[in-house]
Amino acid sequence: MKKFKTESKRLLDLMINSIYTNQEIFLRELISNASDACDKLYLASLTDKKVKLVRSNFAIMLAYDKDSRTVTVSDNGIGMSKDDLDKNLGTIAHSGSLEFKEENAADPVDIIGQFGVGFYSGFMVAHKVKVVSRAFGSDEAWAWESDGIDGYSISEAARENHGTDVILTLKNDTDEESYSKFLSEYELKHLVKKYSNYVRYPVKMEVSKSRALPKPDDAPDDYKTQYEDYTETDTLNSMTPIWKRKKPDVTEEEYNEFYKSDFHDYAAPVATFSLNAEGAISYDALMFIPSHAPFDLYSKDYQKGLALYSSNVMIMEKCPDLLSDHFNFVRGVVDSADLNLNISRETLQQNSQLRAIAKRIEKKIVSELTSMRDNDRETYEGVFECFGRGLKYGIYTSYGSLKDPLAELLLYYSAKQKKMITLREYLEAAKNNVEKNTDASSASQTKDDPANSATNDAADDVTTAPDSVADDAETKSAEDSNTGITIYYAAGSNEEMLAKMPMVRSVLAKGHDVLLCTQDVDDFCMSVMQDFDGAVLKNVAGGDLGLETEEEKEQFANIAKDNEQLLEAMKEALGDTISKVVLSSRLADIPAGISAEGPISLEMEKVLNAGPEGKDMRASRVLELNPEHAVFTKLTEAQDQGDLEKVRLFTNILYNQALLVEGLPIDDPVAFAESIGELMS
Ligand code: ADP
Repeated sequence: MKKFKTESKRLLDLMINSIYTNQEIFLRELISNASDACDKLYLASLTDKKVKLVRSNFAIMLAYDKDSRTVTVSDNGIGMSKDDLDKNLGTIAHSGSLEFKEENAADPVDIIGQFGVGFYSGFMVAHKVKVVSRAFGSDEAWAWESDGIDGYSISEAARENHGTDVILTLKNDTDEESYSKFLSEYELKHLVKKYSNYVRYPVKMEVSKSRALPKPDDAPDDYKTQYEDYTETDTLNSMTPIWKRKKPDVTEEEYNEFYKSDFHDYAAPVATFSLNAEGAISYDALMFIPSHAPFDLYSKDYQKGLALYSSNVMIMEKCPDLLSDHFNFVRGVVDSADLNLNISRETLQQNSQLRAIAKRIEKKIVSELTSMRDNDRETYEGVFECFGRGLKYGIYTSYGSLKDPLAELLLYYSAKQKKMITLREYLEAAKNNVEKNTDASSASQTKDDPANSATNDAADDVTTAPDSVADDAETKSAEDSNTGITIYYAAGSNEEMLAKMPMVRSVLAKGHDVLLCTQDVDDFCMSVMQDFDGAVLKNVAGGDLGLETEEEKEQFANIAKDNEQLLEAMKEALGDTISKVVLSSRLADIPAGISAEGPISLEMEKVLNAGPEGKDMRASRVLELNPEHAVFTKLTEAQDQGDLEKVRLFTNILYNQALLVEGLPIDDPVAFAESIGELMS
């Protein structure tokens, strides 16, 4: 027996115990070696006229035997001479494949091996490994045998044809490990599908099947179909990776089937797209957008990632570094022969390679979604409904740094257009509105010219239309943005409720659109974005929206001045619960409303307090009063009569009412009910 060199012994120990995290990859390694052996001989057939072989001559055979506890991987590849066995398998970390690759760098080979250690992964599951091999062109066969501890022996053997058999005698099961599981058709099939599905040679195995026997002529009436078991050799892998095929050659049906079987989805994807990059790192990527969100998408257990293949062999089932969090719903594969894999071939050595690929992938996904948004809106709306929340989170958690390009992909419900629109569509519509009104107002200006009195009627119509008011407002908000356009939004739990909100109605009445946002992340996302292409994003329930005309402002200032004492008394009645009481023109037909000033909106307050930690966050609340409402007149009367008790009672009711309208909890429901009761009795 030949002893392993000391370094090799240490390395072997390391191999078996530490390099791999996953025992089952031994099969991937042995199949990869067998595929390399076939490739090498195939290459010889290309360069040596005496070798008459074609690709279809090659195959890898898998077998298992429960009695002897063996799993065998055989190939009819190039085989190994006695010397090769000694050199390649006697020296750990000597890769004959790497040498071969270097010697044949110019040839079209896609050899998988490179580290010279994969073979030894067999010792993770086997206590004995025997390799019987016959080199191509030789009539001798040799057997290499080792227990993976001290050394190995090489002896004469017999093999009918060129090629190699690697026979693993599995370890006995322990309390922690079941090695016997590899002695099953199911497990071996599963592992081939998982890791070696796209190895270019067929991986075959004799599998047991069952078939119905023909019904005998004299079968009785109650004859039950009889079955017989038989065995048949099946090819377990599908070989050609679909992502390596040219797109026009693959049918939609084939892509869908691949997606469904590889990513375990019952429904076909809504989009399939590929990327083939050539350069410092060449790779092929095939990606899918699912038609629905997996049930655990928003849970902590959800694992994002694309499958990573190197030379058709799976390295990682879900490589998270290839996908950003906001595109975590995208499924697919990336395959590259240029990756610097680490020794276990379970991960990569260099993250910079992954980063470069991930960057291209990110761009590709954005362009795919953009084109879907523009060309197939209905499908895009479906995709956005499933995954849009993640995009908003992406913007929010990146503190807005992902605004470009994600903001262009967002959709919101437009209260004016009554459909989902993008921020850009809001902006374009608002710009058109401004233009329309500029034209209209120049028309209305002609009205003031006595020489043009004939146009008066028509111009009057225009000036009273809501849009003309918008013109005024637009011009005013121009002061705080580049475009002069403000994008108004309202945040709450559902669209119907939001559409009824007085603040929404009043902004709409002024001719502006309002985006109705119903997801918990919306307000947060909007506030980190701050603006979109120069247009300021404003929550309609936020502080001053700047929508009042100069006239209205003056009028309100006068009313506020006349009622200074009343406003003070009301503020006093509510104490620290509010920061101030103001008069407002945006309450439509309700007497009072609540808005928030400062960075925390009322909707944010709701979301933050509903979180698991239930942070006691409070927006800085402002009580807005509608001076045109009859209740306001009642209040002024009470104040004039010195009936402070009534002022206090009304104030409390108005405040609580306003909270209810906002969907916020009232501080003391019992006191509220009592106040109403007092008023009614
Ligand atoms: P790697 O495949 O990374 O080179 P391995 O430890 O798996 O490393 O294999 C060591 C070497 O043994 C290979 O490079 C190859 O030369 C040889 N070898 C392994 N398996 C076979 C096989 N089935 N047929 C021919 N040669 C093989």
